[in-house]
Amino acid sequence: MTDLAREVGRRRTFAIISHPDAGKTTLTEKLLYFSGAIQNAGTVKGKKGGKFATSDWMDIEKQRGISVASSVMQFDYRDHVVNLLDTPGHQDFSEDTYRVLTAVDSALMVIDAAKGVEAQTIKLLNVCRLRNTPIITLMNKLDREVRDSLELLDEVESVLEIRCAPITWPIGMGKTFRGVYSILTDTVLLFTPGKGPLDEVEIIEGLNNPRLDELFPLEIENTRMELELVRGASHPFVLEEFLSGDLTPVFFGSAINNFGIREILNALVDWAPSPGDANATVRTISPTEEKFSAFVFKIQANMDPKHRDRIAFLRVCSGEFTRGMKFRHLRLNREIAANSVVTFMAQGREQVEEAYAGDIIGLPNHGNIQIGDSFSEGELLAFTGIPYFAPEMFRIVRIKNPLKIKQLQKGLQQLGEEGAVQVFKPLNGSDLILGAVGVLQFEVVASRLANEYGVEAVFESTTIYTARWVSCEDAKMLDDFEGQLVNNLGRDAANSLAYLATSRVNLQLTQERWPKIVFHATREHA
Ligand code: GDP
Repeated sequence: MTDLAREVGRRRTFAIISHPDAGKTTLTEKLLYFSGAIQNAGTVKGKKGGKFATSDWMDIEKQRGISVASSVMQFDYRDHVVNLLDTPGHQDFSEDTYRVLTAVDSALMVIDAAKGVEAQTIKLLNVCRLRNTPIITLMNKLDREVRDSLELLDEVESVLEIRCAPITWPIGMGKTFRGVYSILTDTVLLFTPGKGPLDEVEIIEGLNNPRLDELFPLEIENTRMELELVRGASHPFVLEEFLSGDLTPVFFGSAINNFGIREILNALVDWAPSPGDANATVRTISPTEEKFSAFVFKIQANMDPKHRDRIAFLRVCSGEFTRGMKFRHLRLNREIAANSVVTFMAQGREQVEEAYAGDIIGLPNHGNIQIGDSFSEGELLAFTGIPYFAPEMFRIVRIKNPLKIKQLQKGLQQLGEEGAVQVFKPLNGSDLILGAVGVLQFEVVASRLANEYGVEAVFESTTIYTARWVSCEDAKMLDDFEGQLVNNLGRDAANSLAYLATSRVNLQLTQERWPKIVFHATREHA
């Protein structure tokens, strides 16, 4: 095997998807702690008034104590290099959250076992589904009174439409949570509350081991009965079905008690895929090709309002990145010397020396890099599959000083290109409409318009419910559509036509009335 193939083969790039409060932050800390990447838990994210990692945070982020933009943490585990891409977990999450999922090879779905499948999990899983991303599931908080395990699996299967293969099964819950039975290895891992992440877990061989009946007769009897049912009602783990995104291995644990973390990391290393081929306009790129290539999936602005520097987050798709190398920015057809490239390690920003497919590198720039941009050593290839997502909330922009209209337009054009927010210009009328996936995006835009463009903007509510980009093979039909529905149509920053629906019913009726028009919930970057 070549060195390059070995490096690619030992990489795992994933994100955690969950509804707020399911335990993503806790789990992230435990994962980093467990892998030895951080010394004490509680330093990952300055949530709820805690510490802030560095000065890289946006003002607004500091004020609200939440993470506006996702960042990247890299750590080693069992001779593998694991990249964990963080996704904002607050309900004010943004389109960034969605786009991060286009840069991972697998995802870890964390479910609060007391609550089951929640709204944000459904949305995020649907985004993973666009690329058939393999999903590992953790049922968290078993140290609490939680819902029946079979019922939880059933809910995942019916609501998320993914088959469940339980890998571990809980013994008791809440005050009587005793541990989990590992179905694959026929062993019982005993739970002791309050253990440290590196403490050994006691293991008992065999489900029928009499020791279990001595320790907790009631719970083990119940677990044996449940397992009879489980064997009939659930699916065995089949690696291919996991890799195609059709089946998820399910683990039960308690992040806060460090219980189940090791199993998750092992599953990631043993089963989750290393970086695969990436699609570009001209051809498919293999991760083990010699030449470097990468695409931008996220741009983080700020940092200091006086300096308009931004960090473009690039996912490496092939080759080897080395400090000081030169590569080409394809859209601008410009050579870039990568001297100041950074990454975000668990302990803050560090200089990267080398990176391979699956790794994320950060490229500082002054606003000339956009989401979806491709970089390569020479060959002209544009990566595909980095979409814009149909916004779920809308505002009309107004400015306090009408003389600033030019600055407003310029600012919104740039913020739109950067992917901070989507900007639609109605075909009929002079308003500008902003579309976002999370409401916080509007605040970010308002603060950046004020700081970077000197524009005081106010946002008003609209009657728009959702947007769908439209296309049609029949140009005449599209013309008719445009003519008749001129009041419901707009163009985005890339000049793509979008239908702005006032309600779900309105969208449905329009789709029924215009069967030949295709309504898209995502749009590829131009
Ligand atoms: P996030 O919003 O998904 O990042 O969730 P957090 O990690 O902030 O966790 C939300 C709350 O659940 C916090 O109060 C955690 O202490 C708590 N929590 C996380 N994991 C567990 C667990 O395994 N058991 C219990 N009882 N609480 C947990």
